[in-house]
Amino acid sequence: MAYINKIILKTFIDGPGSRMAVFMQGCNLRCKYCHNPETWNLCIHCGECVKNCKKGALFFEDGKVKYNKDLCAKCDVCINVCPNNSTPKYEIMSAGDVYKIAYYNKDFLDGITLSGGECTLQYEFILELFKLIKENTKLTTFIDTNGYIEFDILKKLIDVTDGFMFDLKALNSENHIKLTGYDNEKILKNLEYVSKNGLLYEVRTVLVEGFNDSEDEIEKISEYIYKLNSYTKFKLIPFRPLGVKGELSNMESFDKEKFEKCYNISKKILKSRLKD
Ligand code: SF4
Ligand code: SF4
Repeated sequence: MAYINKIILKTFIDGPGSRMAVFMQGCNLRCKYCHNPETWNLCIHCGECVKNCKKGALFFEDGKVKYNKDLCAKCDVCINVCPNNSTPKYEIMSAGDVYKIAYYNKDFLDGITLSGGECTLQYEFILELFKLIKENTKLTTFIDTNGYIEFDILKKLIDVTDGFMFDLKALNSENHIKLTGYDNEKILKNLEYVSKNGLLYEVRTVLVEGFNDSEDEIEKISEYIYKLNSYTKFKLIPFRPLGVKGELSNMESFDKEKFEKCYNISKKILKSRLKD
């Protein structure tokens, strides 16, 4: 069983081709620019969202908050008022439940991508799901991760996964700590291991003003990707405040001209591997 924040039946931005994306609840980093902080924690049933839902879609049953999809207006007030960076809308599903959805849609899909939150926290579910997918379909299996995983777990996941997408918040350890609260040693070790196994499909870096947008950081991160291998795509993404809570919630979108400059620095180093 796993906590599932949401499932998108068809997306073209979460790996190669047309994919079903499964966003899982729970995360082990606390990135200041996170645009879905409601995926961080499990619900503690405090009831704040129940009080604020104008549609009666949330209610208590046996001391637990329940959600009625049919009454929901999708206003996201519940998410905005939650003091716990959670949501009352996630579901508990088995690998078999998610597999059935993928199987039913398999003719319209190239693959399935697990994302989050940090999906690898629920790695046993992933192992079971990906095994089912591999045994019964031709769909490819991808994982979108922050890379902060125990090495033993990563090794298990590699056996059933066709590709990984890593978020690399910063190469400079101090910048990484400022952005996420953790250093990046474990993440880099994992990223390099996945790269050596030929499975590092994409690396993404969100540029946040004053945190990881210096020329030095962009150059170093691009050189790092360049030396890593000759196949991984690198994607620079400008910060946007949408969904962000806390310290950076009032920060403006990353400046277009500055982004262009960062993009060109990286492009010089990586040339064809930099994605728009
Ligand atoms: S979703 Fe948030 S606000 Fe609602 S009961 Fe759970 S913890 Fe409280
Ligand atoms: S999004 Fe949340 S607050 Fe809005 S109607 Fe649905 S359950 Fe209620």
